[in-house]
Amino acid sequence: MLNLAQRDQAVIWHPYTQMQTASPPLPIVKGEGALLYDEAGNTYIDAVSSWWVNTHGHCHPHIMQRINQQLQKLDHVIFAGFTHSPAVELAENLLQILPDNQKRIFYSDNGSTAVEVALKMAFQFWANQGFKKDKIIAFRESYHGDTFGAMSVSSRSAFTQPFFQYLFDVLFIDVPIPGKEEDCLKQLTEYSQRPDVAAFIFEPLVLGTAGMVMYKPKVLDELLQICKENQIITIADEVMTGFGRTGEYFASYYLQHQPDIFCLSKGLTGGTMALGVTSCAEFIYNAFLSQDKSKTFFHGHSFTANPIACATAIASLEVLLFPETKENINRIIAQHQAFSAIIKNHPFCKEVRQTGTIIAIEFETGLTSYFNNIRDVLYNLAMENQVLLRPLGNIIYVLPPYCISTEQLQIVYAVILKMADLLEQNKN
Ligand SMILES: *Cc1c(COP(=O)(O)O)cnc(C)c1O
Repeated sequence: MLNLAQRDQAVIWHPYTQMQTASPPLPIVKGEGALLYDEAGNTYIDAVSSWWVNTHGHCHPHIMQRINQQLQKLDHVIFAGFTHSPAVELAENLLQILPDNQKRIFYSDNGSTAVEVALKMAFQFWANQGFKKDKIIAFRESYHGDTFGAMSVSSRSAFTQPFFQYLFDVLFIDVPIPGKEEDCLKQLTEYSQRPDVAAFIFEPLVLGTAGMVMYKPKVLDELLQICKENQIITIADEVMTGFGRTGEYFASYYLQHQPDIFCLSKGLTGGTMALGVTSCAEFIYNAFLSQDKSKTFFHGHSFTANPIACATAIASLEVLLFPETKENINRIIAQHQAFSAIIKNHPFCKEVRQTGTIIAIEFETGLTSYFNNIRDVLYNLAMENQVLLRPLGNIIYVLPPYCISTEQLQIVYAVILKMADLLEQNKN
């Protein structure tokens, strides 16, 4: 009899996986809080919130209960010409915590579609008013998803290389990391003078896939100011930073200027169901109101506003607003700060960065024999120690579910120290 991993290998094609060389996948049979359980009963601390989605841990009882209730009532209904209470209630609740200028919620299925919707809204906003604006400004190292529009506004990298010729032209600017703010401001100022710029899309404060690259709210505010002065629509891709990740409900809470459009997914349902949201300011929405049908926003997915997904998101938002969640977030931030002070003295630690509940440690690579396969070496070391960490090259980050305990976080940090020591032992 074949085991599950073998049956998987006969029929499944995994994401971001070189199927020829990848190790067999690990079957997981149960999730509870910060822990994943395999078939043999081993547990793994999910220190990356299962690709940044699982904000409240696995199988949170409050979220599970709301799903069960919804399953008794309505599974799905077409969302053109119909509505339902989970969609309306979720929109109301989201607008309560999004910045004041956000007035409308458009549903889709995931982070990439939330970005597609935002880009199409921005382009058509101008087209509906008779302007020809077809350029987007984005950060050079950004990641906004895997569909074609989202890939177009993402970095030109190994991930998108086979598709370069199909991606639309984008005006890229440098990420304003500390010390590089002036370069970035200068580039945006220059581009902002062009008459054909429709929008500026950005990951606020943290560029996740780039390697948890971080920059300050002050410079983002300056960038937003330039956009406002030049009638450039601003799109905050908060797919990763939303729902408490940076310490506030949204990264945009750290800003004076409010972005015009928000993209949300990942933590939206606490990682339980696939759902995307694009919210916008009133002036964007108004540009689509007309007696002329051609000005309609012609976009929608079969599962738009799926009631189960919306009910899940309502429950996840409720958990986010629990006082204990705020306490947990603050505790994680404090623990990360204390660990920063320790790891930064390690000779193989090149840099430590932290924004809210995200901590990233960049290891020195030049001096170790692991230069080429450092990512796999670090990943395997963590798994052997029953911690799920997914290095981005030589960058290791912790992005935990908020329910992770003090002790569990200490175990994660101990594994990271082991990684640093392993690199040191394998000094050339
Ligand atoms: C993950 C991510 C996306 C894409 O979301 P998917 O649900 O994976 O399509 C978009 N933007 C950012 C900032 C992300 O981190």
